[in-house]
Amino acid sequence: MLIGVLALQGAFVEHQKMLAACGVDSRQVRKPHELEGLDGLIIPGGESTTMGKLLLEYDLLEPIKKMGASGFPVFGTCAGLILLAREIKGSDQPRLGFMDMLVERNAFGRQVDSFEEDLVIPVLGERPLRAVFIRAPYIVSVGPEVDVLARYEDKIVLARQGHFLAAAFHPELTRDTRLHQLFLENVKIAQKR
Ligand code: GLN
Repeated sequence: MLIGVLALQGAFVEHQKMLAACGVDSRQVRKPHELEGLDGLIIPGGESTTMGKLLLEYDLLEPIKKMGASGFPVFGTCAGLILLAREIKGSDQPRLGFMDMLVERNAFGRQVDSFEEDLVIPVLGERPLRAVFIRAPYIVSVGPEVDVLARYEDKIVLARQGHFLAAAFHPELTRDTRLHQLFLENVKIAQKR
């Protein structure tokens, strides 16, 4: 199994470390040919408008859109979640738009720049996952095909739609690999198809 990590900007090295901890090889993706032979892709946190512009500039947006549409698994965290959303409140920034959801950027308010929280994520079992939120978005609403996997207070912060997974927080900044493992399960399912 080989997982790509979009490496245009943001927290990509940390995702590679998590994948290594899961015993999985990874590759940094900056050019279209680096998408070849991948079994899945992680889009890290960073700045979603910058990352969207770079995706266009580096001719990666369309190829990833095509791959996603034909079953290629993608996991987006924080800015990556924003790029996976079909709708971004008040913004027409470039995006992949794979998931039927509306997101709001910097949604926890400017005073609360970042915070950590023990999140209960039923699909991962009873032990909470330490979630690091940094200028985080949240999911305002989802369509019928999207499964809500976790909320923080009343806000949706983790969701899955088929082979797409999106987290509003940074699971790569802890040592808990369970969310990466969940994504890798999606990848294994996609490989069997
Ligand atoms: N606020 C950033 C954005 O809107 C996301 C922050 C992050 O990825 N940590 O793109």
